[in-house]
Amino acid sequence: MKNLLETLDLVKQEFIIATSTIFNQTSLEAVRVAFLGRKGKIVDLMEQLKNLPVEDKKIVGPQLNQFKTHAQEQLDALAIRLQQEEAADKNNLEKNFDVSAYRYSELKGTSHIYTQIITDLENIFISMGYDIADGPEVDNEYYNFESLNIPADHPAREAEDSFYLYKKGILLRTQCSNVQVRSMHNSQPPIAIFSPGRTYRKEATDQTHDFQFTQYEVMLIDKNISVSNLLATARTFLQAILDNDKIEIRARPGFFPFVEPGIEIDASCPFCTAGCSVCKHTRWIELFGSGLIHPNVLRAGGIDPTIYSGFALGGGIERLAMIKYGINDIRLFHSSKIKFLDQFI
Ligand SMILES: [Zn+2]
Repeated sequence: MKNLLETLDLVKQEFIIATSTIFNQTSLEAVRVAFLGRKGKIVDLMEQLKNLPVEDKKIVGPQLNQFKTHAQEQLDALAIRLQQEEAADKNNLEKNFDVSAYRYSELKGTSHIYTQIITDLENIFISMGYDIADGPEVDNEYYNFESLNIPADHPAREAEDSFYLYKKGILLRTQCSNVQVRSMHNSQPPIAIFSPGRTYRKEATDQTHDFQFTQYEVMLIDKNISVSNLLATARTFLQAILDNDKIEIRARPGFFPFVEPGIEIDASCPFCTAGCSVCKHTRWIELFGSGLIHPNVLRAGGIDPTIYSGFALGGGIERLAMIKYGINDIRLFHSSKIKFLDQFI
């Protein structure tokens, strides 16, 4: 009898542990089978009880029956509680179902920031009646320098500044202006072109300089084109691309061999009204060089400077993007850093 009472105590403890692991109907059913099933632990104890003397049966029997009833009641109560919990969970899920909660993350391709800003610029200039022109990235010295009134002894032609190829006089273009005289050779005034593209210079790279950058060139040739046309065009496209109609421009004299007069254009800082770190506390940001096309350049293009005049302006796509999006390092543009590129989706 003593052995059977000890086994009963053991089974009671096992039952307590087993019920503590029940978390759904399936685990509850497993515990029910293990203890109350036909081959369960309680039925096994009942079988052993049959072999005890009558006196002992009177002592162990009631305890065993009491445990059996307790186990049944406990499992029934657990079953009801589980049903209620599962129903509440289902209800909650349906009520608070959030279609976006299970969205799996995916990497989506998108156009590079260069492409985005170039497309925006092209659309702005197309809307002003300009054509889009394309020029070669590998060009000869004539279109890159000489036709643009940059003679052989000009400092910009020194080999330190340009990437020359093996063939004599052939180089990677240092500026998009190499489309100017090409366009004049290919058409007659009025000529209005916008030309974006890559340019190359032998520069040490840092936060604001890179050996390869992207420029845009704007050129308008017709009768009676003056500085007023240049300034109005500059203001109009800057306000459009920076999406800020409060942008003002400032013209300063500057020297570029292919224009006369040469004009440097600054834009009012879009980030402040009283000076900030972007504008170096001057309220103005240098944007591009420009001017009225030098008569020598018009002549090189076969256009009579006594009849026609024109303006040209050229700037960096990166510089515009850096101001538009507040980017502080030019090298990020072709770094292929997904975290950087993802911002412009
Ligand atoms: Zn500022």
